[in-house]
Amino acid sequence: MKLPPGVSAEQFQAAVQRMQAVVGTDWVLTDDADIWTYRDSYTPFYGDQVAEYIPSGAVAPTEVAQVQQIVRIANEFRIPLWPISTGRNLGYGGSAPRMSGTMVLDLKRMNKVLAVDEHRCYALVEPGVSYLDFYKYLRDHKLKVWLDCADPGWGSLIGNALDHGVGHGPNRDHFASICGLEVVLPNGELMRTGSGALPGSKAWQTFPYGYGPHIAPMFGQSNFGIVTKAGFYLIPEPEVARSYHIMVPRHDDIHPFLDQMAAMVCDGTLNQSWQIDSPLLGSRDPKIAAAVERADGGSSSELDQMSRDLNIPYWGTRIYLHGSSKVVDAKWQDVQSRLSNLEGVKFKSGNAYHFPDDYDKVKDGDDGDVFAQTACGIPTMSIYGMGIGGSNLPTRGPRARLPHGIGFFSPIVSMSGEDWLGVQKVVRQTERELGMPLSRSAGGWAWFRCTLVLLYVQPIVDDPEKNLRMMDNVRALAKACARHGYSEYRTHTVWMDDVMSAFSFNDNALLRFHETIKDAVDPNGILAPGRNGIWPKNLRGKKI
Ligand SMILES: Cc1cc2nc3c(=O)[nH]c(=O)nc-3n(C[C@H](O)[C@H](O)[C@H](O)COP(=O)(O)OP(=O)(O)OC[C@H]3O[C@@H](n4cnc5c(N)ncnc54)[C@H](O)[C@@H]3O)c2cc1C
Repeated sequence: MKLPPGVSAEQFQAAVQRMQAVVGTDWVLTDDADIWTYRDSYTPFYGDQVAEYIPSGAVAPTEVAQVQQIVRIANEFRIPLWPISTGRNLGYGGSAPRMSGTMVLDLKRMNKVLAVDEHRCYALVEPGVSYLDFYKYLRDHKLKVWLDCADPGWGSLIGNALDHGVGHGPNRDHFASICGLEVVLPNGELMRTGSGALPGSKAWQTFPYGYGPHIAPMFGQSNFGIVTKAGFYLIPEPEVARSYHIMVPRHDDIHPFLDQMAAMVCDGTLNQSWQIDSPLLGSRDPKIAAAVERADGGSSSELDQMSRDLNIPYWGTRIYLHGSSKVVDAKWQDVQSRLSNLEGVKFKSGNAYHFPDDYDKVKDGDDGDVFAQTACGIPTMSIYGMGIGGSNLPTRGPRARLPHGIGFFSPIVSMSGEDWLGVQKVVRQTERELGMPLSRSAGGWAWFRCTLVLLYVQPIVDDPEKNLRMMDNVRALAKACARHGYSEYRTHTVWMDDVMSAFSFNDNALLRFHETIKDAVDPNGILAPGRNGIWPKNLRGKKI
């Protein structure tokens, strides 16, 4: 067993006994077999249990008062705790902590849907409520609201949102959909944010600010508190949701195209996520591959010519529009007219789904859309049926080999042609320097307002040397991107320090501010040491 730093086996055992008295002996888990289930099954430290971040155990309460008691015991015995909601954060560390010996605080037994208001479109839930649970609740109660879910339906509304997770529907930026938190602070005290601080508030899930500084965002991607309840905005069930394809012929069209898409995001015409892709660069045609592999990556005029010859558009996207039929039709007319100045642009209507009749008819893969269900607020696990990640990893042909796991490298850029091309240039140049296989056409996801997230999927294989090289390569890619002003939106526990260190403006003023807060709210350093690069005073600067 890996004990927390500075804690003896006797002290650990004494803390375990105290926790058992709170939650019952069955719910403090310290056997190797139990601990195994909390390890990161995609760990890049595959086969290296010294380097791998392995918890000392797990404790699983059912009530807020138990969480408070556990936190107080953890303070007394200096046992670090790593809270998880459903613990499915695969690709970003799974349910394992950032530091070995940390005990997992597993909140998945706290799984009540506490309120849903279908007229004001909000919900209040506990951490263990998964997307699949919540969807079932909505359908069972015939509630005319949608949730916005991540690709794997077994994830939780709260855990996903706290890691700044994303989906494909109208509330795709999940943290931005939070309205009101209940938090156990690192000293065991219970606090409600926003309107929830007013005893008996009637607006906790409708008015996020309450009075004074807006504190809730401090609990996303941080280690300042344990969220025990969260309010979420929901989406009114639309009459219709319909997908549409837009195909843009030339390389340089990307500039006016993204300018217009951004304008349509800002004025609310487009309010679901969409993905910009290059069907041309992604094609299997050997001439394309040869041009991209060349040092100059292929000139734009040469690739434009290939696009014409092969009749494959340079850029393509699929959008969803939802609302009443009248609104959807009008928006689609408007989208076409606003993009009509791009010579040769092509439009195609895709499937239309009507609600509530079509919930069981929407299927991933319909009309070539592997995310059709999540785009319509229907959680699914089908992403795991596409090879791990449904990604740009080779799953067919001679290089085909499903990886043991995946890690994500996901730089963000503004929704402009200059930045979209710019970040890909930096990535390819760095890949060449590192001798990595060249990524041809990563997708750019419009999950955040006027921002594109490039999602590069890195394979984790059963070869420790390859994994170490991959980890170093991602560090180098992240550094190169940061030098050009492109940061990451989220990362795996193994890269948290690297990503945080890139946000270094004015001698790391931001990190120093985080540390000031950390020292004030968690002087014993018991909550999630190292999460998002924020370390408590006693561990700061140590190589952990
Ligand atoms: C193939 C594949 C596809 C994926 N697709 C998506 C996608 O579309 N969108 C997306 O966002 N992610 C995606 N992911 C990543 C991940 O699977 C999801 O984000 C998942 O929802 C996270 O797991 P969870 O909800 O169980 O959160 P958890 O693992 O429970 O929590 C995430 C992190 O938040 C913190 N945390 C959790 N609960 C609390 C709490 N109550 N208080 C304080 N801190 C807490 C913890 O540090 C934890 O590590 C994908 C992963 C894979 C492998």
